[in-house]
Amino acid sequence: MRIFVAGIATESNSFSPIFIGLEDFEASLYAAPYQHPDTPTLCTAALIELRKRANKENFSLIEGTTCWADPGGLVSRHCFETLRDEILEQVKAAIKDEPLDGIVLCLHGAMIAQGYDDPEGNLIEEIRKLVGRKVIIGASLDPHSHLTDKRFKYADLLCAFKEFPHTDFEKTGAQIVDLVIRTIKGEIDPQMAMFDCKMIDVFPSSRQPMRQFVDDMIEAETKPEVLALSLIHGFMAGDSPWMGTKVISIYDGNMQNAEQLAKDFGKKIIAIRGLAMPDITDQKLAVKKAIDLALNQQTPVVISDVWDNPGGGVAGDGTIILQELLDKNKIENKLKICIGTIWDPIAVKHCFKAGIGAVIPLRFGAKSAPYTGQPIDKIIKILKLNAIAQQNFGVSQVPMGASALIEFKGIKVIINSTRAQAFEPNLFEEMGINPLEQDILVIKSTNHFYAAFQKISNHIIYCDAGKPYPNNPKTTAYKKAPKDIWPIVDRH
Ligand SMILES: [Zn+2]
Repeated sequence: MRIFVAGIATESNSFSPIFIGLEDFEASLYAAPYQHPDTPTLCTAALIELRKRANKENFSLIEGTTCWADPGGLVSRHCFETLRDEILEQVKAAIKDEPLDGIVLCLHGAMIAQGYDDPEGNLIEEIRKLVGRKVIIGASLDPHSHLTDKRFKYADLLCAFKEFPHTDFEKTGAQIVDLVIRTIKGEIDPQMAMFDCKMIDVFPSSRQPMRQFVDDMIEAETKPEVLALSLIHGFMAGDSPWMGTKVISIYDGNMQNAEQLAKDFGKKIIAIRGLAMPDITDQKLAVKKAIDLALNQQTPVVISDVWDNPGGGVAGDGTIILQELLDKNKIENKLKICIGTIWDPIAVKHCFKAGIGAVIPLRFGAKSAPYTGQPIDKIIKILKLNAIAQQNFGVSQVPMGASALIEFKGIKVIINSTRAQAFEPNLFEEMGINPLEQDILVIKSTNHFYAAFQKISNHIIYCDAGKPYPNNPKTTAYKKAPKDIWPIVDRH
């Protein structure tokens, strides 16, 4: 048995000014064939699983390029075509003397490139043209993606993470690998169906009612004939013609059952749309609540800047919550406050030149996009510099790039140079801050932070500050996304 693995993964926010090129993949993850580290990243868990299985079961694993760029705006045409053609050449080389039995693609699924509304669909189609119909093609996906007609047509097996936060990424990697191997061996006959829910929403699974929905999906998969069940939540910042929530079910040997299962779960998710997000408060209320809790020793309080989340493709350099804290946190409060992180590579460069202990005038933050506040101009002290800061996300390592810890008016701020949302509290430790000793922690993330931060804080405040992200589909100026979906139109 011979299996090829490769992948291009990123998430494109059509409304973000952060253009994505090859250097962004290099900054986050670019692994040439056989160069992928031993630890999986969010979208490459299938590769690590394949290495384990190939070792144990003695089949040939041919590794191609795998790469990941932190979410941003459009991917440049040159960047996508370069990475795609690299993988296509690797497939050609792999089938030159001997055929392949299977291909596993480590995708995210929400990429949009200049000139390509469906880059992943294009990649799968081109691979299919090279290898023919008989080779089994499977792909792992992030649920915040677009399920396009091409992907559905040219792939045999598609599995997405069920959890949001995506704590089950290794499980999903193992699932797609297992299904591809069993299909090649002829042990199963996967029939894949899709149900289009004609809607778009955000579905954190750390709370009800989505928790139950995910538990029901996991329960459905315990039946041996249900090979996989996935929900594509959709990605509302991607102006894709296929944007929206869709269910994928894979049944063993029975298409009718696959279709019924997809439809049943489609109806279930339609029933909870509009109910899944937690209460989100504006920055004034969020800061007031946080200060009150902190003064009552309910610490640390966590404020999450929900929409200025680099994980959704925006810059992550908004200063609105910081400004509110500066306005409200009188020095006499003496609260320990740390912001992690604000993206500003130029300010980081200034700090590195000045060095630890230097006191310098610095302008930082809010430079990339409108509706994210004003840059902060302060005389700051540089407390710590870290040239290769990174944080954990489960077993994977997420680069934050060269980072500086600065302080002014009793507030500490981590400024970083590789955009990254907050995943785990060790992002503070990485910069010499013990998060447990802080009164208020401000982070940028929609929900991925929740699994790890709820372990250190009983008070998590979801905050809606500014308008960096198109979070209301009713008012977003889509050009290509379908207009006949909920909540853009009311539908039952
Ligand atoms: Zn996601």
